[in-house]
Amino acid sequence: MPDTYGNNTMMTTRPANNFIGSRAMPELVYNAPETMQDLMDLISTHGPFAKIVAGCTDFIPSIRTGRWRFDPGLNLIDISKIKALNRIENKEDILKIGAGVTLTQILTSPVVRASCPVLTQAVEQMASLQVRNTATMGGNLCMASPAADTAPPLLVSDAWVLIQDAQGSTSVPVVDFFTGPGQSILTPGQVLTHICIPKIKAKESAGFRKIGTRTAVIISIVSAAVKIRMDGDLCETARIAFGSVAPTPVRVAAAEQFLAGKPLEKRVIEKCAGMAADEISPITDLRASAVYRKDVAETLVKRCIMDCLEALT
Ligand SMILES: Cc1cc2nc3c(=O)[nH]c(=O)nc-3n(C[C@H](O)[C@H](O)[C@H](O)COP(=O)(O)OP(=O)(O)OC[C@H]3O[C@@H](n4cnc5c(N)ncnc54)[C@H](O)[C@@H]3O)c2cc1C
Repeated sequence: MPDTYGNNTMMTTRPANNFIGSRAMPELVYNAPETMQDLMDLISTHGPFAKIVAGCTDFIPSIRTGRWRFDPGLNLIDISKIKALNRIENKEDILKIGAGVTLTQILTSPVVRASCPVLTQAVEQMASLQVRNTATMGGNLCMASPAADTAPPLLVSDAWVLIQDAQGSTSVPVVDFFTGPGQSILTPGQVLTHICIPKIKAKESAGFRKIGTRTAVIISIVSAAVKIRMDGDLCETARIAFGSVAPTPVRVAAAEQFLAGKPLEKRVIEKCAGMAADEISPITDLRASAVYRKDVAETLVKRCIMDCLEALT
């Protein structure tokens, strides 16, 4: 059954072993399928008593810190050896990114940089080289952290994910994927297989910015992404999304609609940024106060819109 963080795995109250300030890993049964068929066979054999992982950059710290506990004998299903999930496919109108593609693959891909530069921008600001070498975008989404940095770029790009289970594959817009902090629509026996992103077109531009407590290897206090499509001097459509300001990554519809049909001059941008900040209700936590988050959110929207305009000139 789903645990507190929405992961479809068995969680117990087994006392954790402590050593050097962190918990010991439970005994795991490691499975590394190489084909989708083998993956689906393992999922149907072990069902909710298995844990799908990719880079393990969230999985291992979650156990080491005691956030997650599992009974010994947990079946770990590592999808990183499945070639079909390790590709960035350059389709006519979309990029199809496998759930096993690492952040480094995304960052170094000329195809992603050309077709979805806002995603490259976000990944550039994520984690460290070592973490990016194994971490995946699939894992970033499935962890469903409100601070997941790949979420705002995907939200403004109108991206969708493909989810597979024993019944087949379904497609879900990213905007409908997250259901709460650490929770998504994934149910036991389901695996996220691909992320599909419409390519950026002429007269469109998108930008991402994030603020943390320092400039590198840091969880976002606020992240923002904006995408605009221009029609002459007017904004035809806009998408604005935030991370770390709500229980899930979110879009702000009223601020988006406000921009449509307007010239992107200073007073319009300022009004839009204010509306975007009014639409969110962030919390105060160890990293920042709600007031500070709202203030930063407003500033990031302004700067992202300016970045978009600059890129279009
Ligand atoms: C030092 C450090 C810095 C970090 N910095 C950032 C940062 O700047 N920004 C940020 O957003 N994150 C950051 N992270 C968090 C983490 O690296 C990312 O969330 C990463 O993308 C997770 O991917 P993964 O492949 O390692 O996931 P894993 O740890 O393998 O899995 C994470 C969760 O997703 C599930 N899962 C994984 N893949 C699938 C799938 N295909 N289908 C179904 N379920 C799946 C797992 O069961 C697990 O619950 C950081 C982590 C560390 C340790």
